[in-house]
Amino acid sequence: MTPPQEQAGISATALSEEPTYQDIPLVDLAAQQREVQGQVDAGLGHIFSHTAFIGGEAVTRFEQDYAQFLSSGHCVGVGNGTDALELALRACGIGAGDEVIIPANTFIATAEAISLTGARPVLADVDPTYLLIDPEAVATAITANTRAIMPVHLYGQTAFVEQLTPLAQSCGAVIIEDAAQAQGATRFGQSAGTLGDIAGTSFYPGKNLGAAGDAGAVLTNDDQLATQVRMLAAHGSRSKYVHERLGRNSRLDAIQAVVLNAKLERLAHWNELRRQAAARYEELLTGVAGVTLPQQAAGNQDIWHLYVVQVEDRDRVVAELNASGIGAGIHYPYPVHLTQAFAHLGYKAGDFPVTEHAAGRILSLPLYPHITREQQLRVVDELMRVVQQ
Ligand SMILES: *Cc1c(COP(=O)(O)O)cnc(C)c1O
Repeated sequence: MTPPQEQAGISATALSEEPTYQDIPLVDLAAQQREVQGQVDAGLGHIFSHTAFIGGEAVTRFEQDYAQFLSSGHCVGVGNGTDALELALRACGIGAGDEVIIPANTFIATAEAISLTGARPVLADVDPTYLLIDPEAVATAITANTRAIMPVHLYGQTAFVEQLTPLAQSCGAVIIEDAAQAQGATRFGQSAGTLGDIAGTSFYPGKNLGAAGDAGAVLTNDDQLATQVRMLAAHGSRSKYVHERLGRNSRLDAIQAVVLNAKLERLAHWNELRRQAAARYEELLTGVAGVTLPQQAAGNQDIWHLYVVQVEDRDRVVAELNASGIGAGIHYPYPVHLTQAFAHLGYKAGDFPVTEHAAGRILSLPLYPHITREQQLRVVDELMRVVQQ
């Protein structure tokens, strides 16, 4: 089974090994790498020959182009996605004594970023169809200490932010989007990451837009929040050696920016290839007994970061798929409130029944832009064989 420490959407093997003719990894980065190799080599050559490792043209260009790609006012490159969320929270002034509402079904980093500021993550259950944060559950989780609602655009979908906005307004909270799994996803034509007050995203290698290591960004239309994030990520200073706030160091490396610039040019196309692959799974799996397929919510254009089906007896199904060379994963096997790291929040099993029920049934099938029809046919054959045993 997938180790719990696995990051979203990628297995260790996918990072380190070329797939054999028979194996189909959860994510295959090699084909992406081949497409950008020439451009990356040229960009890296430039950086090394100029020894321009921090900041510089590649970083500025990426920030401008990614902001434009999403129609966001600002993009501030940072060290990774978890930092991006934490910096977004800090820029909004959130810290000790504050509560931030997040979905119970998410990657652990969403909760970590909140705890790292001193604030408290307050969990809300998800809806059973899309497994996205449920606005009704958010409404009941609001208290006098609620300072932010943090929807997670999970699996490449966009959460129902327009239903959260009135709730946030009713209690004076901000909306901070976790857009790590939704680079290019839209809801009613607007990009995930531009629907709230501020957003954090991750360019971990297995995300739809992935670097060659860790990287992330904060997005916002608010000039002041953008200035705060930039300052906090650069030792609390706007001009060298003038430190206005307690900050830290979280920068987007020039080397990562080179890779991201090359991949950003192809992101829309790669997202389209993912949509085609998702449509092919749907065509092949519709009507198969024992497999519940993911749905796209009305108004959403999903980018299929993960293709998550639901099955009975999931652990056996995953084990058997893995044993036959199919890189099936689980996102996520242990809900935040049932992890040891967040035991101190005081939740117990049964508190978030939809999330807990889904955690025992969800299974991510291999999906990446360059997956072939033959590979998908093999995944489907194996899945049908294993499920119908
Ligand atoms: C990947 C991810 C993050 C964290 O990003 P890192 O770059 O790994 O720190 C946060 N939230 C979600 C939903 C993610 O999938």
